Amino acid sequence: MSGTGFILVINLVIAGLFCVSFLLIAAYDRRYLSARWFAAAYVMGMVYASLEFLLPIFGNVHVGVFLGHVAFLGALLLLNIGLAHRYEAVPPRLVLALAVVASVVAALLLQGMPRGTFLRNFLYQGPFFVMQAIGAWIVLRASATRPAGRRPIDAFLAAFLVFSALHYLSKPFLAVMLGGNGATAQDYLSTTYAMVSQTMGALIVVATALLLLATLILDMVRDITTRSETDPLSGLFNRRGFEGRLADIVDRLPLNGMPISLVICDLDHFKTINDTWGHAAGDRVITAFADTLRESAAGHHVLGRVGGEEFAVLLPGSNLASARLFAESVRVAFSGRRIDGFPEDAAFTASFGVGEIAPQEAAASLQARADAALYKAKRAGRDCVRLSRSPAVAATRRTAIR
Ligand code: GH3
Ligand code: MG
Ligand code: MG
Repeated sequence: MSGTGFILVINLVIAGLFCVSFLLIAAYDRRYLSARWFAAAYVMGMVYASLEFLLPIFGNVHVGVFLGHVAFLGALLLLNIGLAHRYEAVPPRLVLALAVVASVVAALLLQGMPRGTFLRNFLYQGPFFVMQAIGAWIVLRASATRPAGRRPIDAFLAAFLVFSALHYLSKPFLAVMLGGNGATAQDYLSTTYAMVSQTMGALIVVATALLLLATLILDMVRDITTRSETDPLSGLFNRRGFEGRLADIVDRLPLNGMPISLVICDLDHFKTINDTWGHAAGDRVITAFADTLRESAAGHHVLGRVGGEEFAVLLPGSNLASARLFAESVRVAFSGRRIDGFPEDAAFTASFGVGEIAPQEAAASLQARADAALYKAKRAGRDCVRLSRSPAVAATRRTAIR
């Protein structure tokens, strides 16, 4: 077997392994269906590699070259559709269709051209450049329109797709530099150009698949982390998610010195609600309270359901007085809220404890103080807001007034 033939076989085996990996990811969860398109792209890539390998035995070489060209184009097209799915973009159908038509026309045109000319090679590689550039554009556009979800891996993938596109564009020049791509299609495999081109191709095939796999695996890790930090009933952070954000924000505190306040809320007489109306009705009250919090909170506030009927709101940038206003507004909104499935006159209430972080205070201490304030609210008869004034904050205030 020639060296180039050997590389083709390695390409086939590696593409097959990646194909199986993509299919396993697609089978894991419906959210990763883009992996199916990537698997299909790699199957097409295997068809292309096989055709190129079998070229010497094709009776009519033009047919073999044409089919190989279309198969490779198909692989890049499937890759682009997969990228559009992964990046939740509508596949640019018109652009893709135009590129396919133009590419097939180019593939037909180059059949009549003498082999080895620059123009022919350019017409051969040009469509691959265009297809891959569309892939890079899909990733870049998605990152630009949704900057919040942008990750380093996306930028890296886009950069790599640009590089890969440019690599196709470089091939006609490379062919000239390396002494041509064979007098006949059958000769192609024995040229230096074929060796270099196939090696570069193999590296790009492997690198593209590894990057796509890394992207999918990072998607999975992010989804699993989000799920493990989200409370399914309320859609708010669960205790773990909330405390993670609390620790992050408190840790950054010495850098900017902004005030941070914490509100802890607990639904009043919730056991009675459950006993009277049933557990499902109790769940609706929990959801209604979560909705009230969401409606009252600003984008930078962190909302969590930290216990059965206990909630917490972290207010970065709010001092004790404005956190108290926030708690009062939630209290009033909730006690006046109509909840589906309950009589018109049914009213539910919650109690609130509020604390502002003191200099150097640990997150756990702030939580304990807000909790203590909540118990004061319960003892004071419920449906009210109570504050925790830490000695440190009070001292700072006195200094400021004087
Ligand atoms: P208080 O006003 O002092 O807070 O009284 P309470 O009855 O609200 O307090 P308690 O802590 O005794 O009761 C909380 C109840 O919340 C007990 C538990 O059955 C109920 N609970 C906890 N999680 C859920 C849940 O997910 N759904 C429902 N429906 N009830 C829950
Ligand atoms: Mg309660
Ligand atoms: Mg409770």
